[in-house]
Amino acid sequence: MYGYDLSEEQKMTLDMVKKFIGNELEPIAAEIDEKGEFPMHLYKKMGELGLLGLRFPVEYGGSSNGEEDFLLNNLCNELMAGASAGFTLSVGASTLLFGNNVLKLGTEEQKKKYIPPVIAGDRIGCWGLTEPEAGSDALGIRTKAVKDGDHYILNGQKTFITNAPIADYFIILARTTGGSGEIYGGSAFLLERGMEGLETGKPFDKMGMRCSPTGEIFMDNVRIHKSQLLGAQDTGFLGMMDSLDVERAGSGIINIGIAQKCLDIVLNYVRERKQFGRPLAKFQLIQEKIAAMYRDIELARAYTFHILDMAAKGKKITREAGVAKWFATEMGTKAALEAIQIMGGYGYMKEYHVERYMRDAKLLEIGAGTNEIQKLLIARFLLSR
Ligand SMILES: Cc1cc2nc3c(=O)[nH]c(=O)nc-3n(C[C@H](O)[C@H](O)[C@H](O)COP(=O)(O)OP(=O)(O)OC[C@H]3O[C@@H](n4cnc5c(N)ncnc54)[C@H](O)[C@@H]3O)c2cc1C
Repeated sequence: MYGYDLSEEQKMTLDMVKKFIGNELEPIAAEIDEKGEFPMHLYKKMGELGLLGLRFPVEYGGSSNGEEDFLLNNLCNELMAGASAGFTLSVGASTLLFGNNVLKLGTEEQKKKYIPPVIAGDRIGCWGLTEPEAGSDALGIRTKAVKDGDHYILNGQKTFITNAPIADYFIILARTTGGSGEIYGGSAFLLERGMEGLETGKPFDKMGMRCSPTGEIFMDNVRIHKSQLLGAQDTGFLGMMDSLDVERAGSGIINIGIAQKCLDIVLNYVRERKQFGRPLAKFQLIQEKIAAMYRDIELARAYTFHILDMAAKGKKITREAGVAKWFATEMGTKAALEAIQIMGGYGYMKEYHVERYMRDAKLLEIGAGTNEIQKLLIARFLLSR
């Protein structure tokens, strides 16, 4: 696929993913977008097929035997995003934002408790950093965790959290010491639905990614045992920075999937649609748009997959992840807009799906650190050398 040398095992998994997408996800993608409903039964089905556990070691119920198979994960996510970016976003929030952070930072007990139910598709996770007054200014969070003997007491509010309205498990970033803007003093905690004082709001009504529930989390004197601390106290922001590199680059893959799907749709359309007695495909201005879409998808995929491979080999990719995220996410929105333009009035209609891809793609320019923040980080690095 896309010129990558794949093992027989990787090809088999990809075939399974394609079948799952073609038979189960694609047929309902427009409906779940329209209704704003998360298809829990498909999340469960992915768990049963072993598709939620590709990145997790076998001892926690996954299928990885050591080094994480980033190539396979990336290809699966790209394909899935081409069918339903919203579903892919929610799956990513549960397995990557929640599951992978437990895997990287958790104690053995925490990994054994929280990872298997998530990758079996029985439980859904989320990751909460953003607050009403702290978005880009992530170190300005106001949620506080105060130590009380063997316990912590959490108070605060999170917003815009993917999966929050339906989540069973929550990773919550809170300040334990230090003041606003300080990198030390943040801590991550594992919370569960049903804990006293923990509530979530209704799913927000939003422009795109509509089948992925986004919402608020309220914590009013939530008292948790110190064993729910994820990673060392006061190092929560540092752990977050580390895992955010992969999550940022990974968010670009959703838009690569969207762009590829838009190109596929357009390639069929321009061969069929005739104006002035000729198929649209014959017009050079249309050809230029198609060639540019292809160029940008190829560049985004090659760079993003390359740096995720570097990360899998233990290299730090902070700056590269910013470049990949910025380029790939902007590229995805542009590709979807171009697809609409190429298809004219038909592109503007829901029937052809490209308008949905455009609405979905826009989110990734905002989430996981806005593209403006990526630009600032890149410039800061370059100017500091
Ligand atoms: C659908 C959805 C799902 C999400 N899922 C999650 C999740 O699962 N977990 C989670 O923790 N968060 C999540 N978020 C939150 C997301 O990460 C934030 O929305 C994002 O970080 C931006 O924060 P903000 O919305 O408060 O915008 P703001 O920070 O208020 O930014 C507004 C604008 O100002 C710009 N800006 C801000 N600071 C600067 C600066 N210093 N220089 C130049 N420009 C600046 C921004 O780039 C942006 O254009 C989600 C958001 C959405 C919409």
